[in-house]
Amino acid sequence: MTGAKIAAMDSLTRKKRVLILMTKAGGGHLASARALKSAFDTRYGERLDVDIVDLWMDHTPWPLNQLPKTYRFTVGNAPWIHELYYEVGKNRRVARSLMRAACGFARETLTHAIEQYDPDLMLSVHPLLQRIPLQVTRQMRRSIPLVTVITDLVSIHPTWFEPEAMLCFVPTDEARALALKAGIDPSRIRQYGLPIRPVFAEPSPPKTEVRRRLGLAVDLDTVLIVGGGDGVGPVRDTAQAIAHRFSTATEGGCPSGCQMVIVCGRNEKLRISLQGVSWPIPTEVLGFVDEIWDWMAASDCVVTKAGPGTIAESLTRGLPMVISGYIPGQEEGNVSYVQDHQVGVFETDPNRIADTVARWFGDDRAELILMSRRCHTLARPRATIEIVDETTRHLGETPPAPWEEPRVLWRSVLP
Ligand code: UDP
Repeated sequence: MTGAKIAAMDSLTRKKRVLILMTKAGGGHLASARALKSAFDTRYGERLDVDIVDLWMDHTPWPLNQLPKTYRFTVGNAPWIHELYYEVGKNRRVARSLMRAACGFARETLTHAIEQYDPDLMLSVHPLLQRIPLQVTRQMRRSIPLVTVITDLVSIHPTWFEPEAMLCFVPTDEARALALKAGIDPSRIRQYGLPIRPVFAEPSPPKTEVRRRLGLAVDLDTVLIVGGGDGVGPVRDTAQAIAHRFSTATEGGCPSGCQMVIVCGRNEKLRISLQGVSWPIPTEVLGFVDEIWDWMAASDCVVTKAGPGTIAESLTRGLPMVISGYIPGQEEGNVSYVQDHQVGVFETDPNRIADTVARWFGDDRAELILMSRRCHTLARPRATIEIVDETTRHLGETPPAPWEEPRVLWRSVLP
């Protein structure tokens, strides 16, 4: 057989390749990338090869590859710097010039990465990885379609909107409106929700069962406290205020039976210091947990920063939210999203957060139950499956059997 024939045979038998482009800034982009890969693998594993690549950190030269690391520092220590970058980047001309410069600087390594993975389709879950991969593939004289999956809920930075992307998946009505305003062709816009891990599409087991399995008290109201993948925000002050509120007050409608689950994510310093505290109420302090869906399923409400991933996941678990803070810029709109849809409240003062939780577990339990129902209505647990099916259809593959609609468990917060 000639070389040409072998190459032709190879191209017939070769699985199609999808390359998910992300970078590790915060937990959300990585979590979305993993969620999409997991759905691709489960549904199309025999027909597609799917890789996740951190194009910034692993395939650009120093100092560009350090950029994602500055994210955690600025978000945690100097949010105003983060906000400044965010606002400056909104200027289309400035953003394009910076992308062009980055592309020129990293052209060689980026080209090498694309050659190495040789994808049939690129799917980007990061706003800074829209223009750049298209520019690099154009310079390589390759035409590889790019699909954008937006992983912010409401405040969508303009760099997300790439008119040349074959499809643009938006999570909410608000994001769709912004996409249209940014000039994205309506025929390329799809709205299924935020990509979260497919396991969130499965109904949760009864709360008591999950609590027993996780070693929690079965009959205590449970508040989950999280600060995104990196454990940022006023996690410690909030936990202390809640512990104090429930350990001291039993009058005024404040019940005494409450336990806390504190998830510190990758913030090891926080985890170690909180594990050293002698908590006056039952408290579980955890580092980064993979099975956060179980901890959510075991809880009755969540105190969190306005991270899009945590909000979307909490909705599927029917968890009313106290939003305790937000990253300036990209998370601002999420606060009003939660408030407008009446699935939670915005409160930054730790003592008032504790009061809210105490009310929800006391006199205002009916409100908590109502909010939990609204969470289920607003949730889009199938988003990841639908995004993956739609993308794969564009690669000429037909989806497997229809996805079974998950059951909704209203009993989750019923007393
Ligand atoms: N997360 C997790 N385990 C943890 C902490 C967080 O799996 O211990 C996940 C969380 O479920 C969510 C993501 O990390 O999917 C955090 O994303 P979000 O958009 O809420 O905030 P970010 O960390 O991106 O600022």
